[in-house]
Formats: sequence, structure tokens, C-alpha cells
Amino acid sequence: MTTDSSLRADIVEVGRRMYARGYTASNDGNISVRLGAERLLMTPKGVCKGFMTPDMLCITDLEGRKLEGQRDPSSEMLMHLEVYRQRPDVQAVVHAHPPTATGFAVAGIPLDRAVLAEVVTTLGSVPIAAYATPSTRELPLAVRQYVKAHDGMLLANHGALTVGTDVFSAYYKMETIEHFAKISLVARLLGREHLISREEVDRLQQLRGSYGIQAPAPICPDPTVPAGGSPAPAGDPASCQVLQAPPGDGRRLVADLIDRRAGAGAPDGGAEIRLTYRELSALIEDAIRTLK
Ligand SMILES: [Zn+2]
Repeated sequence: MTTDSSLRADIVEVGRRMYARGYTASNDGNISVRLGAERLLMTPKGVCKGFMTPDMLCITDLEGRKLEGQRDPSSEMLMHLEVYRQRPDVQAVVHAHPPTATGFAVAGIPLDRAVLAEVVTTLGSVPIAAYATPSTRELPLAVRQYVKAHDGMLLANHGALTVGTDVFSAYYKMETIEHFAKISLVARLLGREHLISREEVDRLQQLRGSYGIQAPAPICPDPTVPAGGSPAPAGDPASCQVLQAPPGDGRRLVADLIDRRAGAGAPDGGAEIRLTYRELSALIEDAIRTLK
């Protein structure tokens, strides 16, 4: 299979998954990938993404001029072009209207609270780009504010946008956003949403390097912590990921025990150690005794 036909098959598959999961209805949503340095492969306008065939896709240049294909490119092509312009590292763009995440976008509530460790580590925060009329030049301008520092964002009163190093990574981020939105909604309905502490957010951010996660920007420094005698500036969503996380009380029972066992020989407190089941049980029993 050539690169071209392989990428066409990937886009068709992602379109099916988005439609099957209810992220798009009718002809909503669009998907594109880079096809070499000068061209893009893109879903066409006016087609249900759940029933595409590879021959329906079209090829454009980076200015949006159609080079190949029976159909015209996506009505949201301008938004895709803007992402590729701003992010040379991005190879694929996915846009959909997943209902729960879009509900947050309609309510004007960004997904920017430190609630789930996986989301902090991968996406960071998910801001809301200002409302813009779909398919016009307004939408790329709204997206531009956030796309340099974020791989996923909500679009006010519209939907969500994700980017990635290939079409599946962009699609999985769309899954993560919708999943995160569902969990956040349930927690808020239950009346409690405990946030992860700022210290833990810092630790999770360090894990990005360990797991080889290529986040486009760091999480913004805590504006409440003075840096060099003066408060750190408020986070700029154009250059870092603004995340709500309260200061912690400094108590970390298990991690403190691990640090003590690692001892002075360990080059840093975050070094990996291995415990047998018996050692782990002893640590837990020790902790329970301390709590009594
Ligand atoms: Zn849309």
C-alpha cells in the first residue's frame, strides 16, 4: 500500500470511529493529514464521515487550492490550514462535535482544571477558542490564539479541535477530551470535584519527559508563587497551558516513604525503585499504623 492510500485508509477509519461514537452527526466534522511537505489530504465537504470511501478525499496545497479529487475540500479547510501554518510539527488535524465536550464549549466552561493525571500529562489544559462563524476566516483567527501551546481545544458554541503527529494520535486526543468532559460532568453533578495539587501537577509535568510525551508547551507557573521576589505573571495561553490546581499541604505519604528507602545513594528523589509484594505490604501496614 502506498503512503497516499495508507493515509486515505486511516482517514476513512477515523471518520467511521468518530461517527460510530457520536462525535459527529450527519455531515459534521473534518479530518486532514499532511501529504509530504507541500500537500494536504482532506475530507470533502457535504459527506457523512461515517460512510466515506478513500476516493472521496481530496488533495490541496498549503494555500487550500484543490489539486486532486472529484469533490471540494472541507468547509472548515481554513481552520486546518491555519493549524499547519502555526504548527510545523503537526501532521494531522481532527475536528468534531462530541456532545459532552461541546456542551462545555456551549456553557463557556473550559476543561482547565487539574482533575485527571493522564490528561494533565498529555493534553495539559483544554481552553475554549472564542466563538467564530464556522467556515469563515474568523475561525482560524480564534484558533490561532491557542494552537501553539495546545494539542486540543474547545470551540465556543461549536465543537472541538485536536492535532497530532498522525491522524490516530489526533483522533485519540479527541477521545480523551470527550472522556474527560464526561467525567468532569459527572463529578460536578455529584457536587464535588477535587483538584490535583499544584505540586502534583509539577511532578506530572516532569513525567512527560520520562514517557516521551511531546507536549507543545509547558504548564504555566503558579501565579500565586513568587518568583525572584515578585509574583509570577499570569499564564499566557499562547505560550503555556493554564491549569487550575490549588497549592497542596505538602503531605505525600507513599512518595515520602519511597524517598526515604531510596536513601542518599539515589541521584534524585524521583529515581525508580522496585518493591516485592511483601515489602509493599509492610509499607502499607506501616502507613496504617501511623494513621491510627
Ligand atoms: Zn464543526
